[in-house]
Amino acid sequence: MTKEQIENGGEEMLIDVPDQEAFIPDGFNANYLKVYYGRLFPHADIFKWMSYGNDGKHPGCDNSYFGRREFSFTLDNDIYLRFQSFNSASELENAIKEKCPFKIDIGPVYSVDPAKRHAYAQGGDNNVFSPVERELIFDIDISDYDDVRYCCSGADVCLQCWPLMTAAIKVIDTALRDDFGFSHILWVYSGRRGVHCWVCDGKARRLTNEQRGAVADYFRVYKGNENSNKKVSLPGPVLHPFLARSYTDILREFFEEKLLSSQQIFSTEERYEKILSMIPDESVTSELRGKWQENRRSSNDINVSWWELLKHMLQSGKNKAQGLRRCVEEIVFAFTYPRLDMEVSKHMNHLLKAPFCVHPKTGRVCIPIDPQNCDEFDPTTVPTLSEVSMYMTDGFLLICVTSCSGELLQELNTGCLRADVENGMLI
Ligand SMILES: [Zn+2]
Repeated sequence: MTKEQIENGGEEMLIDVPDQEAFIPDGFNANYLKVYYGRLFPHADIFKWMSYGNDGKHPGCDNSYFGRREFSFTLDNDIYLRFQSFNSASELENAIKEKCPFKIDIGPVYSVDPAKRHAYAQGGDNNVFSPVERELIFDIDISDYDDVRYCCSGADVCLQCWPLMTAAIKVIDTALRDDFGFSHILWVYSGRRGVHCWVCDGKARRLTNEQRGAVADYFRVYKGNENSNKKVSLPGPVLHPFLARSYTDILREFFEEKLLSSQQIFSTEERYEKILSMIPDESVTSELRGKWQENRRSSNDINVSWWELLKHMLQSGKNKAQGLRRCVEEIVFAFTYPRLDMEVSKHMNHLLKAPFCVHPKTGRVCIPIDPQNCDEFDPTTVPTLSEVSMYMTDGFLLICVTSCSGELLQELNTGCLRADVENGMLI
């Protein structure tokens, strides 16, 4: 993906733009999409969610609320329609059916109707039009893990590397709930190579950009750059409780039980030298090289046995006293800790693809992921647009959605996908 920046009143607006060499497989075409929007896309649920109770039915509700939300449509031929706004569920539904967007993005709630922003700007006060609410969002993309996954690169993803996303969901979801006290959290498969997170609690939606930046910084452990061997730095005598818990409860086991073997982390000289480069003591690394070579003929998986040798050396005796013990944690974090696109989280006006869109390149539906059962989620079995269309029969549809608890058969009435996204809660 590339980023296109659109100027608006001096403030940068960011939108994800599909790569130009778009490849559209059988799973995606405009005719299928028309059927999907016409009979399946959960227009009413999206409206209900985005209204947060301001739906005209409750006393004291803000009837202008939904109409101040920005929607962005990406049409065929890369035509972008920014600042679309709708006053009702039927207006939203009619526009989606009529324009048949290849992608729908959701932006913030503005101070005034975004479609009428120019009228307000003519009054000479540009500040009248500004974002006032927005879910706190996170975007995690597996292509940001290319230096630590050896099975795939770029947009490709397989079952060997997808568990990196699963670990990220667990770490971030736990912290959002336990450390920040948020509870209305929706995780969504991005349709290709990552996951999106929508934190929908009122107090999350009302965070300022500065506060969003502080939340993003809370999750930041990567201090290095392309030229630095040490990408993760965990300073201080003890780990921050959030990092300690992430390590003990999630990342250590994931690294040792899965990643070591699935990514063959020690299988080539280049790979094991990369790990040694994270240990800032040459006498230790050369001693370790020797021990590893002695161990080479062992019948055990060298990825496991070499890791045990490394841990033993760094966590015992004089090295423990010298602080090298922390290197073990830093290596695990370097390979497994969530890599967030911080810019997405920091700015209220960053657009994010709507749940239940269809990814134009894979044809896969962007379905929710239950964080409690995210180990079961398999991106390779997420239904595609063509599969969804094929399953459709008169007035009734069965669709296989492997999102919540393995193979989950969801019965769907035409026109209503029954996954509940109300207030960001999956029920
Ligand atoms: Zn892979």
